[in-house]
Amino acid sequence: MLLIFFKKAERPQRTVTMTKQARDGILSYCKIHHPNEGILILRGKYKKGLILVDGLVIPPFSHTGPTFAGFPHTFLPLDPSYVGTVHSHPTGIAKPSVTDLHNFFGFVSIIVQSPYEDNDMFAYDRDGNLLDLTVILDEI
Ligand SMILES: [Zn+2]
Repeated sequence: MLLIFFKKAERPQRTVTMTKQARDGILSYCKIHHPNEGILILRGKYKKGLILVDGLVIPPFSHTGPTFAGFPHTFLPLDPSYVGTVHSHPTGIAKPSVTDLHNFFGFVSIIVQSPYEDNDMFAYDRDGNLLDLTVILDEI
């Protein structure tokens, strides 16, 4: 009798690096939209599990409210420099909701909780696992 064991595929742990400029842009965008949710597209590079965020794009046709921020993905051009999204949680904590995970786009989903200070930003993968997020002064 032959037994085959499927080893769970090992995925490299993703880490997120963000320029200080992008971080500051996200935080002020979230503050401007408070008490509504704000959402932005993250621009950058993805290579072997490493995500670099060095730019922000305001999504076309975005609609926001106190509990939901979204945009129709079908309107997005297939731009390889779009690495993920960031949105704010004006109330509650920065944990991805079921809707957030269903609307996952790209490689990373960043959530910012109120009051949108430097330590209120958290990065998640498609499964809702917390990723390391490092802020750097300039582009590498
Ligand atoms: Zn959310």
